[in-house]
Amino acid sequence: MTSSLATVAYLGAIILFILSLGGLSNPETARRGNLFGMIGMTIAVLATILGPRVTGAGIPWIVGALVIGGAVGLYAAKKVQMTQMPELVALMHSLVGLAACLVGFASYVDTSVVFTGAEKTIHSVEIYIGILIGAVTFSGSVVAFGKLSGRIGGKPLLLPGRHVINLIGLLIVLWFGREFVNAPTVQAGMGPLLIMTVIALLFGVHMVMAIGGADMPVVVSMLNSYSGWAAAATGFMLGNDLLIVVGALVGSSGAILSYIMCRAMNRNFISVIAGGFGGGAPVAAAAGGAAQPQGEAVPVSAVETAELLREAKNVIIVPGYGMAVAQAQHTVFEITKLLREKGVNVRFGIHPVAGRMPGHMNVLLAEAKVPYDIVLEMDEINEDFSDTDVSMVIGANDIVNPSAQDDPASPIAGMPVLEVWKAKTSIVMKRSMASGYAGVDNPLFYKDNNRMLFGDAKKMLDEVLAVLKA
Ligand code: NDP
Repeated sequence: MTSSLATVAYLGAIILFILSLGGLSNPETARRGNLFGMIGMTIAVLATILGPRVTGAGIPWIVGALVIGGAVGLYAAKKVQMTQMPELVALMHSLVGLAACLVGFASYVDTSVVFTGAEKTIHSVEIYIGILIGAVTFSGSVVAFGKLSGRIGGKPLLLPGRHVINLIGLLIVLWFGREFVNAPTVQAGMGPLLIMTVIALLFGVHMVMAIGGADMPVVVSMLNSYSGWAAAATGFMLGNDLLIVVGALVGSSGAILSYIMCRAMNRNFISVIAGGFGGGAPVAAAAGGAAQPQGEAVPVSAVETAELLREAKNVIIVPGYGMAVAQAQHTVFEITKLLREKGVNVRFGIHPVAGRMPGHMNVLLAEAKVPYDIVLEMDEINEDFSDTDVSMVIGANDIVNPSAQDDPASPIAGMPVLEVWKAKTSIVMKRSMASGYAGVDNPLFYKDNNRMLFGDAKKMLDEVLAVLKA
């Protein structure tokens, strides 16, 4: 393939990636968006392999890597549970960071191209920044993986003088950056490069460890953005325009997502990154943390729940992480269909940080074929709870916690929440009184108009459905 044909193919791939991102912004067009992305990536890979920069000797290596990578990807995609998706995404971000580091070191020791003068400086800066971003992304994503999978607790690690530590780290990185750029030989530059890499790795660990459970959504989207910038940096190091553009697309869309997440949680981006928010969490729920009971929670049976739903005119369903765990979305849809046939106005209220990744609930409900027009964002539906007969909370906790509004000392204080308690009756469906991901006790459970339907969400909803059908 000639160089100009490869450039045209790259341009086509870039357009497809932009269309893909556009498609992913809406559940109705997301499938098409994914298809565009897949076609774009196929074109990109083919144009790279067949392009002028790959010689015949390199092809077996690339094909070997493609087969191994493809097999691992296929196996992971088939094996992974929907609830493990956020962890998988974090792990994949870490791979982008690792790739940027490895490409950086490889391109530094590569003597086949000799740079001189300003070109050498620019290339050195590209390598230094590329490895810096890559290392932070790699170690930060590995810790995020640990936190999302419950292997690491949700409580923020607050080292004394952590801001000073970060500042000293930054100064050392800047100092060694100068040493690296001015190094006369590869051997002389390797020391500063390795020191910076270690500091960047430690910074990534420290940054994510310092973030409380409640602020993890911002971290997830931020690492998504970092992985894009790491890919763009790799593109600069390799002189590959496609990687630069695609990396910038992912980096900037991730940055926009981080902004949206911050707004959804009423957080300041800089404060989240500085760490310490979302503290006070005893242990993340994934690690078995339980809330302190206060007052009395009134249990309700599946039969009583079905009665309440049957008599209601307006119902709002609020799904959360527990619906994903129980894989209850199909039964939720069955119940919705049945109630709608009986003339009940059933709608869904989706919190922007429900579940464990952005858009988690939308994906599950779309999979279960819930019509998009009854799935509403928090801002669109929050006013309507006071006119609602039954609000049904399915495996959600933090996103319906009134202490976010009432208790300024709460780790989630200020986070907008779905005001389910304003409905005539709220029903919370979960297995126990345990707290949610942020590890915060939930006063909703003890409100007079609240009822607790204890048990696995899928099992309980199956029982409710059976009664409704009877
Ligand atoms: P939460 O984690 O607050 O609560 C989920 C609840 O589901 C738990 O309290 C649990 O209670 C219940 N549950 C678990 N399994 C089941 C089951 N099989 N059947 C019924 N219930 C079950 O989830 P929310 O969606 O309310 O809030 C999301 C939280 O995750 C927020 O704190 C958010 O900041 C954080 N987060 C979000 C990310 C995102 O991008 N969306 C990323 C990372 C973190 P029990 O054990 O008693 O059943």
